[in-house]
Amino acid sequence: MFRSSFPEKVTDGVYLVGSSDLTDHRDCSVYLVDAEDLILIDSGAGVNTAQIARNIELLGLDPAHLSTLILTHCHIDHVGGAAYFKERFGVKIVMHALDAGAVEHGDPVRTGASWYGLRLSPPSVDVKLTEAEEALSFRDGTRLACLHTPGHTPGSLSVYGDRGEERVLFGQDIHGPFLPEFGADLSAWRRSMEALLGLEADILCEGHFGVYRTKARVREYIEGYLEQYGV
Ligand SMILES: [Zn+2]
Ligand SMILES: [Zn+2]
Repeated sequence: MFRSSFPEKVTDGVYLVGSSDLTDHRDCSVYLVDAEDLILIDSGAGVNTAQIARNIELLGLDPAHLSTLILTHCHIDHVGGAAYFKERFGVKIVMHALDAGAVEHGDPVRTGASWYGLRLSPPSVDVKLTEAEEALSFRDGTRLACLHTPGHTPGSLSVYGDRGEERVLFGQDIHGPFLPEFGADLSAWRRSMEALLGLEADILCEGHFGVYRTKARVREYIEGYLEQYGV
């Protein structure tokens, strides 16, 4: 059966280029930000990574202009394609220091690789963030802030930036799950979610469940999980 696999525009300069529907059922949502240089948020499970690159081409953009790959946390559904993007396009890999070791060592438990039945090709991480918030600046003046939002894993990041009047938040796995083998911490997560609510984002690009719009619905989404976990 024909299944559409065309990448999707989220808003000006922000695209969905990989997901469980678009590229491989194990892939997280992979977002692309066009800031003259191209920035990827997460890289999928590493199974069908070439299709993510082809999807960038389908948008009329050249993956050779990829400069940066921000990994929101160490799970293989987010980091599995990182080595491919680094080898092929020379991207600089940015992630939080607390999750970087699991990726560089290919830790099968902490990356979830054994749970997925996949093997991680471990890339080296170029920039290991340690601050509560650090901003990255790109060629056209776009700034993406990397906010340390531990909870799902110790080194989870949420990334946000403004496109025109809209604030876009790449929240990825803010919905959990919260498993001890991943170093999850529900009280840290609650504080992280409070910080995300304070951003008043207009668009939430989620890690597995798609894109949520309007400030009110983004707030509702995050508050729904806070209620569900009752912490
Ligand atoms: Zn995860
Ligand atoms: Zn995930």
